[in-house]
Amino acid sequence: MKLILLGAPGAGKGTVAKILTAIDGSVQISTGDILRGAVQAGTELGKEAEAYMKRGDLVPDSLIMGIMGKRLQEPDCQKGFLLDGFPRTIPQAEALKALLAKLNISLDMAVNIEVPRETILDRLCTRRTCENPQCQAIYNVKSSPPKQEGICDKCGSAVIQRDDETEEAISHRLATYNEKTAPLIGFYEKEGLLKTVSGTSSDVVVNELKSAFGL
Ligand code: AMP
Repeated sequence: MKLILLGAPGAGKGTVAKILTAIDGSVQISTGDILRGAVQAGTELGKEAEAYMKRGDLVPDSLIMGIMGKRLQEPDCQKGFLLDGFPRTIPQAEALKALLAKLNISLDMAVNIEVPRETILDRLCTRRTCENPQCQAIYNVKSSPPKQEGICDKCGSAVIQRDDETEEAISHRLATYNEKTAPLIGFYEKEGLLKTVSGTSSDVVVNELKSAFGL
């Protein structure tokens, strides 16, 4: 499947993407994961992105399109891809449309995962992430803690609270979402690609998508 996953930070895009990739072999492409990996590795990209990310601001569209222009042409995308956290602005959506047209790829759907604000705030404050850039497994101190506190079940690295998951950064990220990213819902509705799913549970979202794709 070739999907865009839309939804506020904490809506469950990453969790849904991980379950779906295991089902149909598509790849999850998370611009947030790519950027965090670059920050940890200390690359030029990471240095440019770090301050924006810490504040909960979006990194410039040109950096993101530089990453995605290459990533979508890698061979593993041929089986399908789930775009998690991209596009985040109307200019990114326009640039993606042009890029896909050039590559002769058509999207199946843009899925808008709708979750109430209180659920999102609660999830983000209690979310923990594996610090290993190659893993970045997600845990929740309340609903799905690692088996051993602070240690990733999958790779044994430390499980940490992200810098941009302090209360201040979270409310800034949500405001940025409302201002810059929520308009994409109208954009994809006009494109005839929008599917909205009410998603307090990731399993419900996954099941709706599985039936939409006959899986
Ligand atoms: P995420 O893990 O998707 O919440 O992304 C974490 C941070 O990375 C965001 O708060 C932004 O600073 C940055 N980021 C990720 N994806 C994008 C994007 N498509 N456009 C701009 N900034 C992004």
